[in-house]
Amino acid sequence: MAEANPVTPTNFIHNIINEDLEQNKNNKRVHTRFPPEPNGYLHIGHAKSICLNFGIAQLYGGLCNLRFDDTNPTKEEVEYVESIKEDVKWLGFDWGDRLFYASDYFEQLYEFAIKLIKDGKAYVCDLSPEEIREYRGTLTEPGKNSPYRDRSVEENLDLFQRMRAGEFPEGSRVLRAKIDMASPNLNMRDPVLYRIVKATHHRTGDKWCIYPMYDYAHPISDALEGITHSICTLEFEDHRPLYDWILDALGFDVNNRPRQIEFARLNLTNTVMSKRKLRRLVEEGHVAGWDDPRMPTISGLRRRGYTPEAIRDFCERIGVAKSNSLVDYSLLEHCIRQDLNTRAHRVMAVLRPLKVVLENYPEDKVEWLEAENNPENPEMGTRKVPFSKVLYIEQEDFMENPSKKFFRLAPGKEVRLKHAYIIKCEEVVKDPETGEIIELRCTYDPETKSGADNSGRKVKGTLHWVSAQHAIPAEVRLYEPLLLEENQEEENEETDFIEKLNPNSLITLTSSLVEPSLAEAKTGEKYQFLRQGYFCVDPDTAKGKLVFNRIVSLKDTWAKISKK
Ligand code: ATP
Ligand code: MG
Repeated sequence: MAEANPVTPTNFIHNIINEDLEQNKNNKRVHTRFPPEPNGYLHIGHAKSICLNFGIAQLYGGLCNLRFDDTNPTKEEVEYVESIKEDVKWLGFDWGDRLFYASDYFEQLYEFAIKLIKDGKAYVCDLSPEEIREYRGTLTEPGKNSPYRDRSVEENLDLFQRMRAGEFPEGSRVLRAKIDMASPNLNMRDPVLYRIVKATHHRTGDKWCIYPMYDYAHPISDALEGITHSICTLEFEDHRPLYDWILDALGFDVNNRPRQIEFARLNLTNTVMSKRKLRRLVEEGHVAGWDDPRMPTISGLRRRGYTPEAIRDFCERIGVAKSNSLVDYSLLEHCIRQDLNTRAHRVMAVLRPLKVVLENYPEDKVEWLEAENNPENPEMGTRKVPFSKVLYIEQEDFMENPSKKFFRLAPGKEVRLKHAYIIKCEEVVKDPETGEIIELRCTYDPETKSGADNSGRKVKGTLHWVSAQHAIPAEVRLYEPLLLEENQEEENEETDFIEKLNPNSLITLTSSLVEPSLAEAKTGEKYQFLRQGYFCVDPDTAKGKLVFNRIVSLKDTWAKISKK
């Protein structure tokens, strides 16, 4: 790896790294890592950490590893490993040949534990988990020494080896660091380093029945990989002294070891982020899966139609800081609108159709009208859309008794149909039984064709529409926030976040109609449906019917929604 040089800092982490480089720490290397535990799918908070870690490596011309912290065999699965790899790649980052697993180091971690025992810095403790908790004390009271704390090195070595050999039942013994039961930092009160877990590990199978604790495996894994800056979230600040203690005890060079830097985790309004809660949503069936488009997971956002560019832009804009805060979901939406504005084809789709018959339009005539694909980007060209006697418009674009400010269609009123003509509503046809409006009888003005209109006539409203005989049926899924509560992370004990789920988070429209240019639309493609927002073709389309997810509406309707 080339020597790195200080950069113009844009956050406090850059300042720290610059300082280390100026002091020639770590031989002027910059090496970071993203260390997920494979116990769930990645979410937008992880994206912040991914962009930060890989971004710093890019900025300094250093390296970033992907390392799975797979020390807990009961909660971890290959499915999660695979999804995490896919998501990191999709976000646009590359770990090269540096894909690692904490489980790669199990043998070394064990040898290090033996060294700690031999040096009198670790002991086997027979207290039960409850007793360990009792003996630990509290923030205001010191802990008590375990009665097993002064076991001889020989006895400790013998017991630890027999723990590994599987001689003792789960929960009967642990290996603990011998630090200080009176430390003001609870993490330093003889923390557990190893526990007995008789579970099959997704990589090491049944080779092990003792597993290292995260707090023991993590700093050593970082040090073994030559990580120079271990960037993590604030809750690990109090663990830093333990990490340093472990590296000191094992003799890692002070000037050539990972420096931990903590930053504030991302919290977003109207959603939950912890994997525990996300897993509950999936397991209890509140959502269709980890990639449900309502989920703040990377796979959910991808399915919804978010792009890696928009997510990276979002992570850039939120920045990194030292204090926790709540970021408004509308910022994420702003980023995807910005990204798709210049890229997405504009098309016409009617979500809730209302039939319109043009009485003065010839029965069999079809005109193919020119429509621009993206007014923001003329290079995207034009396409033809068919116009004919029977059309559909949006139900909400018609009002029988309009208010003054309603500039759309109403009896006797005129509007322009986008890319087409001015039409006038002549008559409203209702279902004689229900009174429901089922059809509008209209006339069109042949002198007002878009692009060739010399009539000088002006109308206030322009509506989107589709031609009945050409339109393609589609299912459209509209979304609202998953949670009605703005800040769910600071959940108090009495309220379960499940009670705050928004019952309208998914609205499925099954009789929408889209223009025929979408006939061959492919999963993942993104469009702007004029006046309705940005939409993405859902993988369910493979089942035979076009299915679209609304990524986001065109305007920021968020304020309205969350105040409902
Ligand atoms: P969760 O609390 O959501 O279950 P976690 O911290 O347990 O997440 P890990 O797999 O341990 O998940 O996280 C991998 C990395 O991602 C860690 O370095 C962690 O600090 C970071 N990370 C997790 N959640 C966030 C977040 N909301 N914002 C920023 N970084 C995060
Ligand atoms: Mg974790």
